[in-house]
Amino acid sequence: MVGGGVIGLSIAWRLAQRGDAVTVHDAAPGSGASHVAAGMLAPVTEVQFGEELLLAMNLESARQYPSFVAQLEAATGRSTGYLPCGTLVVARDNDDLVALDRLAAFQRDLGLDVTKVRAGICREMEPGLTPSVRGGLLVAGDHQVDPRALVAALLDACRGAGVGFVHERVTELPAADVVVVAAGCWSGDIAGVELPVRPVKGQLLRLRGKAGVERNIRGLDVYIVPRPDGEVVVGATVEDKGYDTTVTAGAVHDLLRAAVELVPDVAELELVEVSVGLRPATPDNRPIIERRGDVVVATGHYRNGVLLAPLTASLVADLVR
Ligand SMILES: Cc1cc2nc3c(=O)[nH]c(=O)nc-3n(C[C@H](O)[C@H](O)[C@H](O)COP(=O)(O)OP(=O)(O)OC[C@H]3O[C@@H](n4cnc5c(N)ncnc54)[C@H](O)[C@@H]3O)c2cc1C
Repeated sequence: MVGGGVIGLSIAWRLAQRGDAVTVHDAAPGSGASHVAAGMLAPVTEVQFGEELLLAMNLESARQYPSFVAQLEAATGRSTGYLPCGTLVVARDNDDLVALDRLAAFQRDLGLDVTKVRAGICREMEPGLTPSVRGGLLVAGDHQVDPRALVAALLDACRGAGVGFVHERVTELPAADVVVVAAGCWSGDIAGVELPVRPVKGQLLRLRGKAGVERNIRGLDVYIVPRPDGEVVVGATVEDKGYDTTVTAGAVHDLLRAAVELVPDVAELELVEVSVGLRPATPDNRPIIERRGDVVVATGHYRNGVLLAPLTASLVADLVR
């Protein structure tokens, strides 16, 4: 296995559970995009026009999540922070409301479960929302997990299942019966592995305190993910800047302004961390999960890698067999 992010570790654990001997090569497992991700499990609110096939994968992986985390938590005694909290998408103004109406119509055409919510009801559901909120969409099935807790549990589960770790960055495929390449946006750097994967930069903030909301809150240009332990995640930019990982003042400013517009108490929270992750993106935004002789590729999960981990692990385990 090359790469120990949420994708590589989920695959390694699944393979080891099935009795395969697995070694993960990664200089710093869990340090890539998986360390930065917000952890929304959002097949419905992430759906984009023209991405119906990806939607089907996202929905299937969301369906597998409860049993995936239950097995992981039972194996390790660790919490993954999985929280079936639902998501409220909110409109700040009339333009947003028109955009939400279009989105709701598209989501309903796809048979998805979304409910329009009037402004007053939005505030009753989430008193921390700005009084000027114009309305929203409740997506009851879009939840969250804590990616850092998830990766820590996966590392424990892998070790417990006998997975070996070699702390190195590889430049050539290691010798093995089957090599799985799951090195995120760096997967194409390995000699002989041609992949149309590119990094897409995301800046994201971690804050701490009480924001006064319990569900994931999404505006059109920002999301707020409140966790029961007091962490509040505000994300995220989407920037085509290659491997650049600079934190910029403008991004922090824009994210905070957009978040405070939706949930004013965000301004009172402690700002704990600003981080940058590189999403592994493909030309059609769909992951690449395929077998090429003795090599299996599992990358390109772009904005949904945390969500897609359970499904990817079972698909890759089948491909390896
Ligand atoms: C700001 C931001 C917010 C996000 N929010 C969400 C979200 O809410 N929900 C969601 O589902 N997804 C989200 N994502 C996407 C998600 O983080 C990624 O899709 C996912 O983490 C990809 O996992 P991965 O294991 O493929 O890659 P990574 O986590 O990047 O892991 C790749 C691993 O490969 C290792 N590696 C690299 N090169 C080599 C090499 N040559 N040899 C050995 N090892 C190597 C690295 O050290 C790293 O550990 C977000 C991403 C970002 C950046």
